[in-house]
Amino acid sequence: MKIKQEVKKKLNDKVLYTNLKNFASNYKVSRQNALTGLDFFKLRNDIYKSKDFSKEEIIALFEEFKQHVEKSGCTVLHAEDALTANKLITEICKKHNAEYIVKSKSMTSEEIKLNHYLEKQGLKPIETDLGEWILQIAGEHPSHMVMPAIHKTRQQVAKIFEKHTGEKINPDDIDKMVKIARKYLREYYFKAAVGITGANVAVASSGTIGIVTNEGNARLSSTVPPVHIVLVGYEKLVKNFSDAMKIIRLLPKSATGQNISTYVTWIKGSNPSFKSDTGNKHTYYIFLDNGRLSFFEHPFLKDALKCIRCGSCANVCPAYEMVGGHVFGDIYIGAIGLILTSMLHDEKKAKEILSLCIGCKACSFNCPAGIDLQSIISDLNVYMGKKYSVNPVKKFIYSAVMKNPAVFKTAMKTASFLQKPMLDETKENIKNIPYIPKEHNFRKLPSIKTKTFSELFTEKKFGEFKSSKKVFFYPGCAVEYFFPDMGVSMVEVLQKTGYQVDIPKAQVCCGLPAIHAGDGESGKKTILKNIKHMGNPDDYEAFLVLCPSCGMAIKEDFKKYTLDYIAEFKKSEKIGKKVMSFANFLKINNIRFQNEDDKKYTYHTPCHQGRGLGFVPEEFLKETFGENFIPLKDSDVCCGFGGSFSVDYPGISAGILDKKIENIINTKADCLLTDCPGCVMQIDGGLKQKGVNVKVKHLSEVLSNLKIQKK
Ligand code: SF4
Ligand code: SF4
Repeated sequence: MKIKQEVKKKLNDKVLYTNLKNFASNYKVSRQNALTGLDFFKLRNDIYKSKDFSKEEIIALFEEFKQHVEKSGCTVLHAEDALTANKLITEICKKHNAEYIVKSKSMTSEEIKLNHYLEKQGLKPIETDLGEWILQIAGEHPSHMVMPAIHKTRQQVAKIFEKHTGEKINPDDIDKMVKIARKYLREYYFKAAVGITGANVAVASSGTIGIVTNEGNARLSSTVPPVHIVLVGYEKLVKNFSDAMKIIRLLPKSATGQNISTYVTWIKGSNPSFKSDTGNKHTYYIFLDNGRLSFFEHPFLKDALKCIRCGSCANVCPAYEMVGGHVFGDIYIGAIGLILTSMLHDEKKAKEILSLCIGCKACSFNCPAGIDLQSIISDLNVYMGKKYSVNPVKKFIYSAVMKNPAVFKTAMKTASFLQKPMLDETKENIKNIPYIPKEHNFRKLPSIKTKTFSELFTEKKFGEFKSSKKVFFYPGCAVEYFFPDMGVSMVEVLQKTGYQVDIPKAQVCCGLPAIHAGDGESGKKTILKNIKHMGNPDDYEAFLVLCPSCGMAIKEDFKKYTLDYIAEFKKSEKIGKKVMSFANFLKINNIRFQNEDDKKYTYHTPCHQGRGLGFVPEEFLKETFGENFIPLKDSDVCCGFGGSFSVDYPGISAGILDKKIENIINTKADCLLTDCPGCVMQIDGGLKQKGVNVKVKHLSEVLSNLKIQKK
């Protein structure tokens, strides 16, 4: 499979690894600082609403924009597809006798492969954004939407400059490199008959465009040449200046962590030009459709058109951070790149790169336009699975095994028997699996326990404890088969505080693994079976989970996949409102604990704990462990597990885990706590494989040994 080879190549690129790791770390701090004092979630909600247009509405905005700019002598054109846009631009350039064309950074022009087309027509486009220019003279394409040359070191850039200019360049002399670029590019602004820019916003109520840059090159490209072409996608239209300003406010903070970009250029109408034959600049606006207009009506892809191209969904993506934009995307990169590739480019390419998403939801949580990118990626995976088929082994596991509780249990019991010769002396982990490729050996795997959680629940007579205070506990596959003690610990705590705990009649997978693999049909069948085995939501105070990914599936996917079943949908809706993590339940019910040991504890936030179930127990942990609680750097960044993702892409999974382990070691904690059996499996397995002496425990296991203080 081509994608796996490309991933391997990128994982060996140490420059890329270091550049992206350093950037991600600095970016998070700068973004946080830039957002201080702002209500990010309110602002992004405002942006989301202000960009929520139907096809008719966007066409009406286009007409309004057109009317305004045509009144001031500009030309407005519609390009149905990439070829039409390229032809229109070429015609304009030829009409104005252009040889050189200066361009500021425009992802839309990358989308239509404009430079390539113009060069074939004998024209000479010159990129004026420093990063874009470096790549143009190196013959490469961008790996990031905002920082196109992020994959290059200054040493590599110095070599590229040396080759292009023939001058000897000291790679430490960045100032000199900037001066060289400035000297080279300045002369083209004056040689060029045409300047091409994009637009970050196009304001319909006044016919104004706004362009954001840090180098001022868009201002020069749009003002010095006598002809200005603005290539813009329909989705950049906004109603008015107030809506445009919301975008301009959040864009630089999300893109680079800057408060505001160095240049924000507003252009309205046709401005005077000393180089123009008429004394006024010839201005052309080309609105690119390329499929966009029809997607304004699409049930789950429509939201992707709200993107403001900040690149934040790449900046926070743990998988992008391992392989970079030349693999994680196509023309557009990051989470939005996975989506736009399927909308605007090659569907088969999109199917391959969609598999690179680990499902951590960091993109959705950080997107300044409020797009739930992970949910769209999940829907696209299901669409691709239906259209092009799902991996047959996975399909068999999801449709024939995991969906059927009896078959699943038999399979796990058999595996538990067969694993015996492979167990280590503790019986907790598998020593080695024969014939497994080396790259999968980055963590020790937990053993399948001889007794399931449900069996222990019966054996310990937990079901006999009755109370008027009742909760329902959904164990999920990991607790049921690999970590039953986590469930036992939780039930013990709850019963000590007077809660009756009920569990499903049969343990069925939550359906998330099937959905994530694109097998929506098995996912739906699994969910329906699950709903049948769950108690009546009216009888319980809460539906508790120890695995936030199961919790998120219950909260979001149960409703989504039962739309055709009224009773099941109603039950899902009710359960979804009551589903929560154990830690959240303890907090809500004022159940507190007293820790008396002097060990140091730290905490890893599972992806779907904070970003799925919406609760992080930071305060609870500080209260319980006091000064012995040491916060973990990047606590909410994924640990690299992602279920079958870590089997498909062991190199990415291991690389993400390495960063987590580095941060854990730096805390000098004795024990890492977390709220997800999957994270325990990944992190504990990684630490053990590396011989690092830090215990990893689910919060439930540690709390069950502490003195309870009901407040
Ligand atoms: S999808 Fe959101 S985070 Fe990603 S580039 Fe667009 S606006 Fe930024
Ligand atoms: S869900 Fe996580 S892994 Fe997937 S694209 Fe978003 S940030 Fe990247």
